[in-house]
Amino acid sequence: MTLAVLPEVETISPELKLHCIACDATLPPTLVYRCPDCGGILEVVRQKPEGHSWLRADFVGDGITLGEGGTPLRELRPNLLHAGFSGRLLVKDETRNPSGSFKDRLVAAALSRAIALGATGIVSASSGNAGAAAACYAANAGVPAIIVCPDATPRGKLAQIVAYGAALEQVPGHYGNAFEHARQICAETGYANLTTTYLNPYGVDALRLIGQELYEQMECVGPDWIAIPTSSGPLVKGVFQGFMDRAGKVPRLIAAQSEGCAPIARAFEDGKIDVDGWENPNTIASGISDPLQAYPEEGSLTLSLVRASKGLAYAVGDVGIREAMIDLARKAGLFCEPTGAASLAAARDLFIKGTIGSSDTVVCIVTGHGFKDFAAWT
Ligand SMILES: [Zn+2]
Repeated sequence: MTLAVLPEVETISPELKLHCIACDATLPPTLVYRCPDCGGILEVVRQKPEGHSWLRADFVGDGITLGEGGTPLRELRPNLLHAGFSGRLLVKDETRNPSGSFKDRLVAAALSRAIALGATGIVSASSGNAGAAAACYAANAGVPAIIVCPDATPRGKLAQIVAYGAALEQVPGHYGNAFEHARQICAETGYANLTTTYLNPYGVDALRLIGQELYEQMECVGPDWIAIPTSSGPLVKGVFQGFMDRAGKVPRLIAAQSEGCAPIARAFEDGKIDVDGWENPNTIASGISDPLQAYPEEGSLTLSLVRASKGLAYAVGDVGIREAMIDLARKAGLFCEPTGAASLAAARDLFIKGTIGSSDTVVCIVTGHGFKDFAAWT
């Protein structure tokens, strides 16, 4: 395949390193996805700029960015959380990213690094949103993209992937099968793997900007709670790190999962440190239906961050997710997919249970646009 001329991307900063969270090894920044010594999760370590926080340009090259991030934080009527709630309810509207989900933040950074490191194409395993983001950004960069999705991926997401010109492959069964197939394609082609679990450390690294953004939008006063739709959990890590970057402390984080696929919430409930894979994922919230069977340690990392924030992982039923989704549309004019509403659904349950207080400040991150999953609305 003939490649288009690639956009110019800054070379990788010499201060940037990869760090293994399992064995503490340090590596130079390359296209590596797990620790070569122990197989542990890798994270980016970077020096904080003097006197200011990071900018998008520290993560994403000029030729790659499509204006991701900088999304609105909207204040909603308190009773949209629940009758009797008199605190503040805010939503971080990530549907406003270029391809309609927060995944654009990861993909922009991961693609920048991939090109800077010489990749000639990209691959992404996806429940739909990450694939749409990867296809979108690869199209703009003139880089071939192969996206691997489970058969049951919502058609709106598949339509996006095809519209952006990526090669779409669908595999039977759950997300874990797509993950493995994408890894095989990377091994065969040498393409960069932009899968947005904790696999690509450069993508996860960029999510700290959402935490920083939230802190600034809250005028440097953190909320009491931040509810986050959670699959393997890079968004939890991004919010955690972003608040640590700016405030040195973190609000209580709620990792919102669906009862139909809740490996992290189950481990939290059972008081376990290690997350076990989920058996048979079944939920309308396709974006958080990763059973984590092949990489449960990713769930364990997320769980450790939730606990460090004094927060919790919580599973909500599909009925509650659907109600929250409909209320966001009809009472706040926010059209989202089921996964995006899992945050509000979880916060509602936790208010009813008395975990969230009636005068607390609650931020719900809404992760993906309603155009992506028409079937959920019919
Ligand atoms: Zn290691």
